[in-house]
Amino acid sequence: MLRVNVGFLLKQPPGFSREMEIEAGQVRIAEDLDVGFLRGVIRFTRTHEGLLAQGRLRTEVACNCVRCLTDFALPLTAQLQDLFYYPPNRAVASDLVIPEDGNLDLGPLLREDLLLAIPMRVLCRPDCQGLCPHCGQNLNEGRCTCSEETRDPRWAALNALLKSR
Ligand SMILES: [Zn+2]
Ligand SMILES: [Zn+2]
Repeated sequence: MLRVNVGFLLKQPPGFSREMEIEAGQVRIAEDLDVGFLRGVIRFTRTHEGLLAQGRLRTEVACNCVRCLTDFALPLTAQLQDLFYYPPNRAVASDLVIPEDGNLDLGPLLREDLLLAIPMRVLCRPDCQGLCPHCGQNLNEGRCTCSEETRDPRWAALNALLKSR
């Protein structure tokens, strides 16, 4: 859980702001999202509506390369610029709210931010060579012994056609 106690900020007048350092190791952001670490600074500013959170958090998420199927840690940055309402009764259902006890849970916000930041097709590196379709060798680790002709059956058919002419 990613709880920050912001109770003391709620007692301050609008305009008051305070920076908070976030430094966490492996943490579960949500049921479906674990991160390797979370580091950064969030500035909270008291407004008439609640608290404005601004900052950048660096993190990394475990991913699986779509080309070579290797697990790797993808570095991501979450950019926060969000208003948390307080007292909660002034907010509508879709708004972010601060509970009465002042323990703000950053999890749902970060989850949304980070899941949007993860590309649909994640590659371990931009020039990932992928796996050989014949023997399954990870081509980032070296070439396999499959010959050029067996690599793509479509070319083999074309070659046969050319040879027959
Ligand atoms: Zn890869
Ligand atoms: Zn091969």
